[in-house]
Amino acid sequence: MNNNLTLSIDHLKGIGEETALQLNDMNIFTIEDLLLYFPYRFEDYSLRDLAEVKHDEKVTVEGKVHSEPVLTYYGRKRSRLTFRVLVGRYLITATCFNRPYFKNKLTLHDTITLSGKWDQHRQTITVSDLVFAPMTKDNRIEPIYSTKGNITIKGIKRFISIALQQYGDYIEETIPLPLLKKYKLLPKKDAIRIMHHPVSHQDLKQARRRFVYEEFLLFQLKMQALRKFDREQSAGTALVFSEDELTTFTKSLPFPLTSAQERVVSEIVSDLRSPYRMNRLLQGDVGSGKTVVAAIALYATILAGYQGALMVPTEILAEQHVNSLKGLFNRFELNVQLLTSSVKGKKRREILVQLENGEVDVVVGTHALIQNEVNFKKLGLVITDEQHRFGVEQRRVLREKGEQPDVLFMTATPIPRTLAITVFGEMDVSIIDEMPAGRKVIETYWVKHEMLERILAFVEKELSKGRQAYVICPLIEESDKLDVQNAIDVHTMLTVHFQNKCKVGLMHGRLSPDEKDEVMKAFSKNEVQILVSTTVVEVGVNVPNATLMIIYDAERFGLSQLHQLRGRVGRGSEQSYCILLADPKSEVGKERMRIMTETNDGFVLSEKDLELRGPGDFFGRKQSGVPEFKVADMVHDYRALEVARDDASKLINSQVFWEDPSYKLLREHLMQSGIIEGEKLD
Ligand code: ADP
Ligand code: MG
Repeated sequence: MNNNLTLSIDHLKGIGEETALQLNDMNIFTIEDLLLYFPYRFEDYSLRDLAEVKHDEKVTVEGKVHSEPVLTYYGRKRSRLTFRVLVGRYLITATCFNRPYFKNKLTLHDTITLSGKWDQHRQTITVSDLVFAPMTKDNRIEPIYSTKGNITIKGIKRFISIALQQYGDYIEETIPLPLLKKYKLLPKKDAIRIMHHPVSHQDLKQARRRFVYEEFLLFQLKMQALRKFDREQSAGTALVFSEDELTTFTKSLPFPLTSAQERVVSEIVSDLRSPYRMNRLLQGDVGSGKTVVAAIALYATILAGYQGALMVPTEILAEQHVNSLKGLFNRFELNVQLLTSSVKGKKRREILVQLENGEVDVVVGTHALIQNEVNFKKLGLVITDEQHRFGVEQRRVLREKGEQPDVLFMTATPIPRTLAITVFGEMDVSIIDEMPAGRKVIETYWVKHEMLERILAFVEKELSKGRQAYVICPLIEESDKLDVQNAIDVHTMLTVHFQNKCKVGLMHGRLSPDEKDEVMKAFSKNEVQILVSTTVVEVGVNVPNATLMIIYDAERFGLSQLHQLRGRVGRGSEQSYCILLADPKSEVGKERMRIMTETNDGFVLSEKDLELRGPGDFFGRKQSGVPEFKVADMVHDYRALEVARDDASKLINSQVFWEDPSYKLLREHLMQSGIIEGEKLD
């Protein structure tokens, strides 16, 4: 940006030290910040035909006062003023509450403009704004800014106007001309003016469109630059192994791969063979068969003479994965080891030595694994499961650890395309979008809490067939005391209810890892038949004999999370059921419950989830890694996002971008964000 625009805001007429501090508090430091401080919404005073306005909608109309206003007092300060207004061919009523002084300003047959809520049945507008004149053309769309402290909307508007007058001409174009032309985007200068003083919706739309593209382009440039440098710096090991030997392994599996599995395997294998470091995200719904894909990738790594590591979030999962890998590898004499914090003493020392001298082929453990004392002889591949909670930064840290092996991230939360290319924008993505044949659909029902008695009868019936059940209570944050209490209460209630009939276990985030493990083991050995749990049971746990999933207060969960929870059943050959106990108040809540009963497809659910909850909430509260945009909306503007990604990728990989003066601003932007170093600019 031009130097003038980087001046601090107190250079502006009328902004003193104190005001400057207040503006700083709103994250406005420079003239440029001020110019780019866009309204968060627009009040629409455009005139509309009443015939098109729905009941209870807000509307602005222009009309002639058609009757003498009548003022009624009820109580000392409360009043109502009513009069008739002729709006086009409609004679309507206007009602103003508690504004008696309007009475003397209204003159019969004068033209006025009024805004308010339209009651279609009574043909009445409850007035919120009244202007005693026809509306002029250029003030119908009013920008509304968010403000803080002593700064008023009026004040910020004035500052912006002055800034536009004084510095508006110094605004430089960020988007390269060819792209600006290609998409017929408004120049930045004009678009900024329109954002602050929109005259028509059409203009506003065009200005918005421009900034949406700019935001996405800048963001994707960062992602694509990260990706490019990552690859270049990773003058990596190209793994060499024989196709035939890998096929021998694949053929040894107890089932043929689905075509989706075959496709992602070939994507991964070609990454392993390439001289670049793999940085790939593998997405697949619960039960789509990611473990097998991981096993094939690990086997290829071992064939090439390297070691592999599989990282999971919990000890329980680590044990499960060790067992499944041992099963899949059993004919091939591989050394697969478990390394978690509960592996101690001599056994631990042995494994550490074997890892260092290369005797261990695959090690499975929690994330502490590659961060601590563990040394590999030749680590070729790291696979991590359930990584979606980590942002770009965390992933970078993980990749920079140790010997820079290929990295494959697996996630069972299907991530909508639009989020995948933002949150995981620097990665390649493989998707298993097909389930192994013959999967039974988990029958899902939504019932009100008052139906609990009948549900308990149903639980009893399933138990009598020798099955097991999960009962989930919401736990939004792990430390949330109230929620733990909730699980404890439900546990007590069920223990009493099923006295002498079965054992009820309890699991929540406040148990120590050992205690959790114990409960989980008891459940998987069927020593406990009902497991009451908070969402700690969510990730990956596999107890095929459990066929029933009951979720309390289901409306408090996101769709993706409900889907994850539901994925804990339906893992064996028996028909499984999921019962959502929920009394949602809102339409959105009801809609979510309905969607759950209608589809078992995680991708459909995740798209819906994103639509209903918005990107910020999609991954839950912690470390979502979802970037924030000022103007753009990832969900609604996803097409622009895809376009910007492709453009960014082309730019980053072209020579001109790094040399041509017309891309200088964009290069500077990358430099400011720390992604490229200064010297790369020359
Ligand atoms: P997830 O993707 O949830 O990790 P898993 O890898 O645990 O799924 O696979 C779920 C189940 O499906 C496992 O029992 C696995 O053996 C089985 N499975 C995986 N791939 C296939 C396939 N192509 N055909 C039949 N069953 C499969
Ligand atoms: Mg899995």
